[in-house]
Amino acid sequence: MPPSDPVDTPKIIPVAERFYVRQAVDNIAWIDLGNYAVVVDALEQPELEDEIFSAMRSTLGDKSIRYLLNTHTHYDHVALNHAFQTRYQTEIVNQETCSIPEDGRWFEGSDRRLLMLPLPGCHTAEDCVVWAPEDRVLFTGDIFGWGLIPLTRNLNAETAELLVNTYRRMIAFEAATVVPGHGPLCTNAELKRWVEYFHWLREQLSQACATGMSDGEIRSAVAPPEDMASWWRFLQWKHDDSVAKVLKAVRKGWL
Ligand SMILES: [Zn+2]
Repeated sequence: MPPSDPVDTPKIIPVAERFYVRQAVDNIAWIDLGNYAVVVDALEQPELEDEIFSAMRSTLGDKSIRYLLNTHTHYDHVALNHAFQTRYQTEIVNQETCSIPEDGRWFEGSDRRLLMLPLPGCHTAEDCVVWAPEDRVLFTGDIFGWGLIPLTRNLNAETAELLVNTYRRMIAFEAATVVPGHGPLCTNAELKRWVEYFHWLREQLSQACATGMSDGEIRSAVAPPEDMASWWRFLQWKHDDSVAKVLKAVRKGWL
């Protein structure tokens, strides 16, 4: 029997006091800042509206939901935006609805603060992360994807450098809890491990191409690292996908 997928059953995880993440294929969080609450990301399936609102009521009571922050506006992060606007008059905050300053926008409640910080270009031009300093929680949106190269454009020397620099900035937060846009929560260690993996892939594939191996030979020679075997959906397809992207960039001379 294959090992069960950790997100088969959505789970509401209290990452701190009055700070919840519903961990599933698509993640959503609700955080009590004291005098109001904030939601981060808004899922893919609008039919989850009732379930999410009732989970929020049972954890935060009838606290007003003043802001909904979208890490970016892909369809699988915004499905409940309208429902929040309608039900709570929530203000939707993302790079489409307003312009977020380069050095970030703070949301200051009476009990805790959140920083929404643009780190654009790794996944979309509007990528933002959300940092909760009191609880050391970092929302990465889709910049971290459990082994995925998050780019939606080509991998080349420039985008590779952007990726590594962006990871350096995320790692510098020294988050205790990292909340990716999708799948299980993790820690700063996984962000660091991904950067090592990325460097390792580039090295392995450049060397292999230089020896004249075929793509098929290379794909079977570059096996997924053992310590990453438990990464979410990594062995199923993410490692192969990353190998294919780096291989293509090396073959084209883009890296
Ligand atoms: Zn996305």
